[in-house]
Amino acid sequence: MTTNRGRKHVIRHRMTSTGESYVVAAKNLKAMKDMGATAEAVRTQRWRPADSLDVPCPCGGTCEPGEKCDRCHAVHRHVARAPGSLTDVETWMDKYDCMGCASSYTLTVVLPGRPWGIAETIVQGGSAEPVVRARVFPGVVHPMMRPETPAED
Ligand SMILES: [Zn+2]
Ligand SMILES: [Zn+2]
Repeated sequence: MTTNRGRKHVIRHRMTSTGESYVVAAKNLKAMKDMGATAEAVRTQRWRPADSLDVPCPCGGTCEPGEKCDRCHAVHRHVARAPGSLTDVETWMDKYDCMGCASSYTLTVVLPGRPWGIAETIVQGGSAEPVVRARVFPGVVHPMMRPETPAED
C-alpha cells in the first residue's frame, strides 16, 4: 500500500539522519505526530469567543454560523467547543450563546483530521468483542469523561 510505503520511507529517512534503529525511529516519529495532534486538539478547544460578529470566529471558522434567537432576535455566538462523543474522536460539540438573552444551544460537528484524542480498539479477554475506547489528549477537557481515570465497564 502506498501509505504504508510512504510511512516506511519517512522512518528510513529518520534512521539515516539520526542513526536510530527502525523501532526507535518509528516510535519517535509517532510521539512527534501525537504531540502535534495534541497541540492541535488543545488549540481546537481553547480559544476565547469573539467580542463581535464582525470578526471571524476564533475557533478557526470550523463552526456553523450562529442561529437567530427566537426569543430576542439577536444572534447566537459560538462560545465553546468540547469533545462531543465518547468513541468518535473527530466529533466535537459546539456551544452557542445568544448575544441578547440567556438562550443557548449545542451543535455536533465533525472535524476531520482534528481529533480530540486517540481511539483504540481493545480486546478484553479471549472471547470478548473488541471495544473502541478513546483516550483524550493531555490538555483537552472532555465533558463526559474524567481525566486520568481509566473507564471501567
Ligand atoms: Zn466558531
Ligand atoms: Zn436571545
